[in-house]
Amino acid sequence: MGHVFRTEQQQMAVDGLKRFLDAEIDSLFNKEYRDRFVPRDVMAAVMRKLTEFGLVSGVVSEANGGLGLDWLTTLMLFEEVATTSSDLSVPVLINSFGAHLLEKLAPPHLKERYLPGLLSGDNFVSMGISEPDVGSNVLEIKTRAHRDGDHWVINGEKCWISNGSYSDFLICTCRTSHDPRRGLTHILIDRKDHGYEVRDIHKIALNSQSTAQIFLNDVRVPVTNTIGGEGEALKNTLALFERSRVFVAAQGLGTARRALEEAVRYSKERRQHGKVIAGHQLIAGMLAEMATHVDAARLLTYRAAEMIEAGVPAEMEAAMAKYFACEAAVTIARQAVQIHGGNGVTREFLVEKLAREAIVTPIPEGTTQIQQLIIGRALTGVSAF
Ligand SMILES: Cc1cc2nc3c(=O)[nH]c(=O)nc-3n(C[C@H](O)[C@H](O)[C@H](O)COP(=O)(O)OP(=O)(O)OC[C@H]3O[C@@H](n4cnc5c(N)ncnc54)[C@H](O)[C@@H]3O)c2cc1C
Repeated sequence: MGHVFRTEQQQMAVDGLKRFLDAEIDSLFNKEYRDRFVPRDVMAAVMRKLTEFGLVSGVVSEANGGLGLDWLTTLMLFEEVATTSSDLSVPVLINSFGAHLLEKLAPPHLKERYLPGLLSGDNFVSMGISEPDVGSNVLEIKTRAHRDGDHWVINGEKCWISNGSYSDFLICTCRTSHDPRRGLTHILIDRKDHGYEVRDIHKIALNSQSTAQIFLNDVRVPVTNTIGGEGEALKNTLALFERSRVFVAAQGLGTARRALEEAVRYSKERRQHGKVIAGHQLIAGMLAEMATHVDAARLLTYRAAEMIEAGVPAEMEAAMAKYFACEAAVTIARQAVQIHGGNGVTREFLVEKLAREAIVTPIPEGTTQIQQLIIGRALTGVSAF
């Protein structure tokens, strides 16, 4: 029943976080740094505070220095961050999954060195899968790591890498053999020790945080920086996607929810034809549709999180949540702009920014089309990949 009711503890955690986000984060990200890059020290200061509320720290067990929250509670907290700022939700999401991967798969010496900085909010990780020619089909990864004694030598280019310019280390998916299923390996590259070049990418939205190209030229890394075993990256990435897709669904949900909140507020203030526009039936109908889709997105998202928490395979349910919530965000943000009329396309109102952010969400962590293929395969047993 967790997807319908919050426990008292969950409600307190969400309320405490929301008070902090409203007081200290909303205007920082939506006014002061609106569409402007947030410097690393400012982002780290915010991350340090968020980890105290259970963001990032929540996904790691107490035994390894985290708070060990369940996935649903962590997701509820993440939804609040995404509702406040989609930009901020990205480093939270990437650091959470970097920390999760390290805890589950890294050898002890890597966990000891890299987990504490993520859990305190001081450090940033990047997860490097995509490349200029490799997006939806991870199997085609070209970034090559070859063995030279007890080192990997890595060459290649990664693209669209969140946290890129903030990153202290990169968990890089590298090709280590031509085996179709066991040819990919996760290798940790420390930026200070081994160096990599980073160039930020300017986008339609989400420019307050870093999305970057990363260039790897003869980067030498000890073989002991291998995470999860040689040739295991495909299997481990697919397992991770099930969880991370639910978080991107919550990112879409957050954007949609904020667009609805902004539209409700505006519709009660703006007057046309002698009354507030909320009193016009077509506006009420649009708000009703938006609210229903926000709740449907939340139910799908929380259901997938509960299944993951219960250890039940949730590939199809995670795909449904990601697909529905992110496409709903696009529609709902556009409806919010429509309800704002001309004001909706100006920088004076948040809905303009939300509409641009919403367009991005159906792309990362498997596009809408890829989610549809996964759902189709689960329904029929026939793969269209
Ligand atoms: C803001 C942002 C942040 C990101 N962060 C990261 C990150 O941190 N790390 C990382 O590794 N990557 C990251 N990505 C990359 C993201 O995962 C890819 O953009 C995504 O997987 C899609 O790949 P692509 O852009 O190459 O599109 P393509 O794979 O080239 O797809 C282009 C179009 O073709 C469609 N398509 C592709 N294959 C099929 C098919 N078989 N059937 C039907 N349609 C198909 C797609 O749905 C899409 O509409 C990020 C992307 C963005 C936009």
